[in-house]
Amino acid sequence: MSDLMPTADALECPPGVASAAVIESHPAREADLPGGLTVRRALPRAGRRMVGPWCFLDHYGPLAFGAGKPMDIGPHPHIGLQTVTWLIEGEALHTDSLGSERLIRPGQLNLMTAGLGISHAEETPSRNSGRLHGVQLWVALPDARRHESPSFDHYPELPVVMAGTCRAVVLMGELNGVRSPAKVYSRIMGADISAPADDVVELPLDPSFEHAVMLIDGHVALADRVLAPATLYYLGTGREELTLAVKKGSRIVFLGGEPFGERILMWWNFVARTPEEIRKARDDWEHGDRFGSVPAHIGDRIPAPPLTLRAAREQA
Ligand code: MN
Repeated sequence: MSDLMPTADALECPPGVASAAVIESHPAREADLPGGLTVRRALPRAGRRMVGPWCFLDHYGPLAFGAGKPMDIGPHPHIGLQTVTWLIEGEALHTDSLGSERLIRPGQLNLMTAGLGISHAEETPSRNSGRLHGVQLWVALPDARRHESPSFDHYPELPVVMAGTCRAVVLMGELNGVRSPAKVYSRIMGADISAPADDVVELPLDPSFEHAVMLIDGHVALADRVLAPATLYYLGTGREELTLAVKKGSRIVFLGGEPFGERILMWWNFVARTPEEIRKARDDWEHGDRFGSVPAHIGDRIPAPPLTLRAAREQA
């Protein structure tokens, strides 16, 4: 995904204060991606910049379409992060400056590690089901690893943890002793939990992690708190388990990780530490060859927005 900020200022993301076992609700805001897809952006928000190393969460769809491409994001650059693509319905085609060309379907994970720099495009393929529903996430890379060479990985299958009748697909990191094969650089957890029946289930957690949940579909309560749609619920650290009361057909995204502990700076598609790095990355996209090109993509690349580096704390 692209176009983090509609305005020109960078977003400063200090390490989160990890309070014990809170439930904070943070409504997502609507954002329009290049190409026109409207998303609900749950991270970063003014009151919650990160959950562990997770620093970005868009939820889009479900939607049905005829002709055309609901997702049509031309080539754009990234640094300092991993992009995590997870579909619930439909298809997306990823192409990048490493020469990757990969169709992704529900149940599969696309993971792009930007490191020191990569460019990619994402679009609805011409042969498609006419449906689209998914999430796009970013993971901030720790300072010691963020200057490594870029890579792209596709995982056709992911492990599943059962909690009662609920099925938790482990996208990243580890949940209840089950580990995703996806390449990670921090202590992290990401899962997609679906409920085929009404149930009350318990998931054991790593209490050193902070956690958050977002309702994707259906009806889910956490303790006696009914989850509203399009809202990120931040759960703090110090939890030994998560108890969910679910109705049949419900689905949530569940995120966690060790509190990140590094102050990051986000602007457009970049995760950096200093304004100078962001200025350089923007300049390299506009004028240099650092990010290569995406030969498999037909269409225009996305120009960088104008840059003024006044750190804006309350923009998300
Ligand atoms: Mn992107």
